[in-house]
Order: sequence, then C-alpha cells, then structure tokens
Amino acid sequence: MNRLCELCGKRLAEGKHHLFSQTKFNRKKYGDRLDHPGNIMYLCSVCHLGKSIPKLRENEFLEATKDIT
Ligand SMILES: [Zn+2]
Repeated sequence: MNRLCELCGKRLAEGKHHLFSQTKFNRKKYGDRLDHPGNIMYLCSVCHLGKSIPKLRENEFLEATKDIT
C-alpha cells in the first residue's frame, strides 16, 4: 500500500479504518457493505490508534454507502 494517511497526510497509510465500526454484529448485518469505499479511510498506525479518528453513525454509514448494488 503506497498511499498517504488520509488524516495526517504525512505518514504512509498502513491500514484501513472502517468509519462505521466493523463489529461482529455489524458485519453480520451488513456484510461486505462495510468495505464500501465510502466507509473506508486509509490511516497510518499512529492515527489509527488515536482517539480523534472519524466515525460514522449507522444512518450516516447508510447514506455514505447507498450507491451499493
Ligand atoms: Zn496519520
């Protein structure tokens, strides 16, 4: 993966952050929809562990991923 962290824009991103949490419950309910680009942010490890990372509520998640087929 060779893209910059979308939060700090300084370090290389090392992982995908799911804006709407990928809990077991959510994974069961929404499946692959959790991996929709609208629900993904690429973050470096430092930002990923931070407390100020963005999150989506369930209704915001549905709005951000509504173009799914
Ligand atoms: Zn970062």
